[in-house]
Amino acid sequence: MSSALLPAYARTPLSFDHGKGVHLFTKDGDSYLDFGAGIAVSSLGHAHPQLVAALQEQAGKLWHTSNLYQMPDGEKLAERLVAASFADQVFFTNSGAEALECSIKMARKYHSASGNGQRYRIITFEGAFHGRTLATIAAGGKKQYLDGFGPVVDGFDQVVFNDLKAVEAAIGDETAAILIEPVQGEGGIRPVENEFLRALREICDENGLLLILDEVQSGVGRTGRLFAHEWAGITPDIMAIAKGIGGGFPMGACLATVEAGKGMTAGTHGTTFGGNPLAMAVGNAVLDVVLAEGFMQHVNQTGLKLSQKLARLKDQYPDIIEEIRGKGLMLGLKVKPANSEMVKALIAEKMLTIPAADNVVRLLPPLIVTDEEIEEAENKIERACQKMQEQKQ
Ligand SMILES: *Cc1c(COP(=O)(O)O)cnc(C)c1O
Repeated sequence: MSSALLPAYARTPLSFDHGKGVHLFTKDGDSYLDFGAGIAVSSLGHAHPQLVAALQEQAGKLWHTSNLYQMPDGEKLAERLVAASFADQVFFTNSGAEALECSIKMARKYHSASGNGQRYRIITFEGAFHGRTLATIAAGGKKQYLDGFGPVVDGFDQVVFNDLKAVEAAIGDETAAILIEPVQGEGGIRPVENEFLRALREICDENGLLLILDEVQSGVGRTGRLFAHEWAGITPDIMAIAKGIGGGFPMGACLATVEAGKGMTAGTHGTTFGGNPLAMAVGNAVLDVVLAEGFMQHVNQTGLKLSQKLARLKDQYPDIIEEIRGKGLMLGLKVKPANSEMVKALIAEKMLTIPAADNVVRLLPPLIVTDEEIEEAENKIERACQKMQEQKQ
C-alpha cells in the first residue's frame, strides 16, 4: 500500500473511527476490544466523559501561552503529582522520551552543580526501552534502534537485567546515575524484583548516585499503585512519566526532588509545548479519576482477575502459553508460537494486544476495564488459543 507517511512503522491494516471505553469501532461498525490502550496510553479508555469535558472546556478558553508566563493549571497538576509522590517539583514535556531527556540532563547537571562535572555516565539495563531520541536510544542500547544513526551518544553503560554484581562492577568515577524501568515494557513485561530496586537505592546512596526511574509505561496506576516503585517501598531521585498521565493526550513529565534538580536553574532547560493548557487540563482530569477513592483497588482487583483467567488458559493451553508476567493491569503472555502470530490470532477475534520483546504479548487494557470486559478478553484469548492449537495439530 503506498502512503505519504514515512514507512517507519509496519502498520496493521486496520483503522478505527471512534472509541468508547474499552472498545474501538471501525467505520463499518466492527467493535474491537482494546487491550493495548494505544501502548498503555489510553489509561481511562476512549472518550472518557470527564476527559472529553475537560478538553472541550479548555479548547474554548485557551490553547497556548508558552512557558514565558505563569501556568496555573500546570502549577496545580504539579502540586498534585508532588503531593502524591516522592517528588518536590515537576517539568512537563510532550512525550516520554523528552521526560527521559530531562531526567538524563538533570542527573548530569546535578553532579556538575555539585562540583563533580566528570560524573556524567548512567548505568542502564539490557532489555530497556527509554524512547527514540539520540540519547534515549543510547540509553536503551538496542542495536536495531542504534544501527545507522551515527556515533552513539556517549555516557551509557548497559548491564545485565536483575544482576547486582554487574551494577556494582559498572560503577566508576564517572558514574552519575542508575536508570531503570521498574517493569520493563517493550522488553517483555519483565518486573524488576522489589529486592533489586531496594538494593539499587542503597547502591545509589552509598556511591552518591541518583536513581532515575522510567515509569513512562508503568506509572499512573498501571500496576495497581500510582507508581510501580511503590511496591518496593523505595523512592527515586528523578522519575519520568508520560503515556498514562495524558489518557491519550500527548504529555509527559519529569518529577524530581529539590536536591536532584538543584542544577536546573532558569535557562538551563526548556520546551515550547510542554505544559500547555490543553495537556494540563487533561492531566488534571486524569488525576481526578485515578486518585479517587477506590480506583487503585479497582485496578488491583481487575488485574488479579485477569491474571487468574490467564493462569487458567496457560494450564489449558500449555503449548500456546508459556508464562504469565506482570503486575496489576500491566500483564504479559510469554507464548510458544511467534508472538506476532498470537497478536494476529487475537485481531481475528477482534481483540487488540501489543507484541513485546522475549516473545511476549502485552495486555495493557484501559484501567477502567470491567469484570465483564475481562471475561470478554478471556473468551477471545481462549478462542485464539484453540485455533492456534488446532493449526499446530
Ligand atoms: C513509550 C516509552 C518511552 C518513550 O515514550 P515516547 O512518548 O514514545 O517518547 C520511554 N520509556 C518507556 C518505558 C516507554 O514505555
